[in-house]
Amino acid sequence: MPATFNYTFDAPCPYKGTTSFNTGIFIDGKFHDGSEKKTIEVFNPSNGKKITDISEGTPADVDTAVAAAHRAFQTSWGLKVPGSERGRLLLRLADLIEKNAEELAAIEALDNGKAYSIALDFDVAQSAAVIRYYGGWADKIQGKTIEVDETKFAYTLHEPIGVVGQIIPWNFPLYMLSWKLGPALATGNTIVLKTSEFTPLSALRVCALINEAGFPPGVVNILSGYGATVGAAIANHMHIEKVAFTGSTLVGRSILKAAANSNLKKATLELGGKSPNIIFDDANLDDAVKWTAFGIMFNHGQCCCAGSRVFVQERIYDKFISAFSAHIKTLKVGNPMDPDTFQGPQVSQIQYDRIMGYIKSGKEEGAKILTGGERHGSEGYFIQPTVFTDVKPDMKIVKEEIFGPVVVIQKFKDEDDIIHMANDTFYGLAAAVFSRDISRALTVANRLQAGTVWVNCYNKLHPQVPFGGYKQSGIGRELGEYALANYTNIKSVQINLAAPAP
Ligand code: NAD
Repeated sequence: MPATFNYTFDAPCPYKGTTSFNTGIFIDGKFHDGSEKKTIEVFNPSNGKKITDISEGTPADVDTAVAAAHRAFQTSWGLKVPGSERGRLLLRLADLIEKNAEELAAIEALDNGKAYSIALDFDVAQSAAVIRYYGGWADKIQGKTIEVDETKFAYTLHEPIGVVGQIIPWNFPLYMLSWKLGPALATGNTIVLKTSEFTPLSALRVCALINEAGFPPGVVNILSGYGATVGAAIANHMHIEKVAFTGSTLVGRSILKAAANSNLKKATLELGGKSPNIIFDDANLDDAVKWTAFGIMFNHGQCCCAGSRVFVQERIYDKFISAFSAHIKTLKVGNPMDPDTFQGPQVSQIQYDRIMGYIKSGKEEGAKILTGGERHGSEGYFIQPTVFTDVKPDMKIVKEEIFGPVVVIQKFKDEDDIIHMANDTFYGLAAAVFSRDISRALTVANRLQAGTVWVNCYNKLHPQVPFGGYKQSGIGRELGEYALANYTNIKSVQINLAAPAP
């Protein structure tokens, strides 16, 4: 039997309680060992030490989970359960997440390294909000009646797809889980979900909450495991009818290929970005500086929509970079459990090395470091918030997603100039415009190739507002009403009232 993980949090963590949860793979409402009885080590990014071992899922476990999800879909979910009941369970799950908010925030801080206070106010609060929002949708999944002619009419049904596969990354373990569970369950699908091998712990705690909320066994199955085994088995599975993936563009490409090569399952992809953040010379400088810092440094720069390319209009460039550099230095980097911390460690040694590699390449290619550029402290995976100026468009740090606390700042002249620079990327996830001139801000917003454009703010996400990418940042939209379409098949029923037989 898989072990139980017990842990007591103490100072400086504001949550001074315990957590206790099973470390197995969660199939059919119960925890199991993986079929090969292997485990994965989970590390604390603040000090690099092992936290615990968890069961490693395998492709055989994916088969078992799919069978359980299929049974549940046929007998205790899907069209067997009215939307009002699915909604009631989702609302209970949202309440339970809120009830255990401090514990979940502490788990995220321990496992992912994100700041406890931010995990509490953002990750956990928003996860509950997303689940609650979709709980509200569950009994409002409706088709249309369509007029044809006086001898016929037609109507549409929005039916659940069946067993859906979902694969999530490590940067927002709980929040990404909520984006996947909410719309899939509201529309009546059953789920086989893989967490990231780097951050599996909060989802394991949520498995117990899923049972406590009363979801029938097999409706949600959650496996820890590696991408090349469990992830690939989900993407290639012949009895999974839809896959929803959030992660890198590189892996997203392989998911789409696997979907095509197996059963042509439907695929939605939420991928990477290199998002432009544009500051016009009439912007409120103080606000723009603060939002811009938040836009890139939030979650230690490990945000798909991070504003990692900042463009400042010539006239205010010098003023902006001096205020920005001063503000960046006020962001507290340190122990994620400390309530004042803004930035904790990067998630893993691999990510630490990757980001430091980009910083090295920026230095070697001749970019100037305005601030940061080094390791922070002597243990764990902490990196100083780093700002590069004097960059050239073909530098790696300008073109590639770094996924760390590293930003490049460039100058621009006018609207045409900035549209060209901002859109000069194969990504298209997000963008922002800062200006007091609303007509200029909206004209630029309309010309940007991005799935989200923020005006005079950054990184604001709401359950009601769709999110997703243009170009190579993804396919489909999550959040909002739009996400429901990812999880339903539309059936047209045509009825003959009086048309004569041919
Ligand atoms: P990743 O692509 O390495 O991994 C994402 C998930 O895919 C993990 O669970 C991983 O185990 C799994 N995986 C890896 N290889 C696989 C394979 N061959 N087949 C199936 N699954 C596989 O990404 P990551 O490093 O975990 O996350 C960072 C990336 O995610 C960044 O590029 C970021 O921009 C992106 N992201 C996008 C969004 C969005 O909404 N657009 C949100 C969060 C993160």
